[in-house]
Amino acid sequence: LMQLAIPLNFIGFIYREIRQGLADIEQMFDLLDQPAEIVDAPNAVPLKVIGGAVRFEDVVFSYDPDRRILSGISFEVPAGRTVAIVGPSGAGKSTLSRLLFRFYDVTSGRITIDGQDVRDVTQESLRAAIGMVPQDTVLFNDSILYNIRYGRPSASDDEVREAARQARIGHFVESLPQGYASQVGERGLKLSGGEKQRVAIARTILKAPPILILDEATSALDTNTEREIQAELDRVAEGRTTLVIAHRLSTVVGADEIIVLEKGRIAERGTHAALIAAGGLYATMWDRQRAAADAEEQLKRAIAED
Ligand code: ATP
Repeated sequence: LMQLAIPLNFIGFIYREIRQGLADIEQMFDLLDQPAEIVDAPNAVPLKVIGGAVRFEDVVFSYDPDRRILSGISFEVPAGRTVAIVGPSGAGKSTLSRLLFRFYDVTSGRITIDGQDVRDVTQESLRAAIGMVPQDTVLFNDSILYNIRYGRPSASDDEVREAARQARIGHFVESLPQGYASQVGERGLKLSGGEKQRVAIARTILKAPPILILDEATSALDTNTEREIQAELDRVAEGRTTLVIAHRLSTVVGADEIIVLEKGRIAERGTHAALIAAGGLYATMWDRQRAAADAEEQLKRAIAED
């Protein structure tokens, strides 16, 4: 039996190695989420970012021809401003960010950055101009240094450390026995949701893009961590054109405009105060989230008193 156990063990080891390799590749594709058919136009030129104003003009989109996901979407994020997209699950919020990155082409209408159609510029220059803090940050099976530097591969070690400090993860990393050389990911140190978000923020600080997409995590972090991360995100977003895909309405109160998406259409739009006053879908969602937060607070208090 022993004779058999060793090769089986070995096969198990190889299997795990291969699987991990595949997982890395899958993660890369997830990250890029790029269908093969999107190619640069033959006369594509590099995007010239002036202020970084983003415009969606009557955008219609379907992943599959028989199912329309977005209809008649028009909005603008003026240079340096913040627009938040909210709405029920499946409304098409993340799809908007994929279209801005040009992971897919619009079915009709157009998306421009400083007046340039995203289909007319090189994908490389487009993606260099946009930074993304995703819902779930993918960590590579490599050092923390590598994982942060991914935001700008040419960054020096000092620049990586500075970005980590600004993202308030520097102390944590420096406290690890191996510091920035610590291995993370599936095979290394498992970082918490909040720590992973900070790695993503540090990456974005390094990349310093004029346009930012914040895809808020659905999975709730604890309230304190959430508040801290929000403060960091607000700081990163300052002066950048920012599109926030929000699940928690508390984070969009300060947005210049809130777009309420429902079944791929803009149901309502306006500032927080205007939408509350209008008493529509947004106001209903706001009341519901408030009630849920209050209930949670009461539950916590009851448990604490017990
Ligand atoms: P959530 O808040 O749950 O993240 P969302 O508003 O961001 O949702 P999207 O992810 O934009 O919604 O998805 C909108 C619709 O498009 C959904 O019905 C979804 O099933 C569909 N969809 C998303 N990605 C694809 C894809 N690659 N191929 C086909 N359909 C897709």
